[in-house]
Amino acid sequence: MSTNKKLIIAVDFDGTVVKHAFPFVGADVPHAVESLKALVEDGHKLVLYTMRAGAFLAEAHKWFLDRGITLAGVQYAPGQTEWTASNKCYAQVYIDDAALGAPLIFEDDGRPYFDWIKGKAILNDLLARGLDLNPIPKDK
Ligand SMILES: [Mg+2]
Repeated sequence: MSTNKKLIIAVDFDGTVVKHAFPFVGADVPHAVESLKALVEDGHKLVLYTMRAGAFLAEAHKWFLDRGITLAGVQYAPGQTEWTASNKCYAQVYIDDAALGAPLIFEDDGRPYFDWIKGKAILNDLLARGLDLNPIPKDK
């Protein structure tokens, strides 16, 4: 679904776009690649937001590059350091398998993974409401 509302979306890596295999990169979580590509095509900005650092972060970044999924930022939203000194990545939506309430799928390895089909439906419902999601604070 395409709407006029364009979001900055922070996306976790392990358990969300790939299966758990840290320090390696696991297999793609079902429907992650097509869903992420669709979000970019709809005009949303994706920011990789992960606990990975150093070479492990580089591997995660490469996963996106290898699949032609454009990232607007890694660990931080573009330009956020101009208006905040916070270490939390700014986003209007966070997609993370560890988020309370995140839709999950349960595979044979005993670990839950983000459910991209249900997640996309939740996002589309949110967008359809036309809400001002987590806006950047305005100057006082
Ligand atoms: Mg995770």
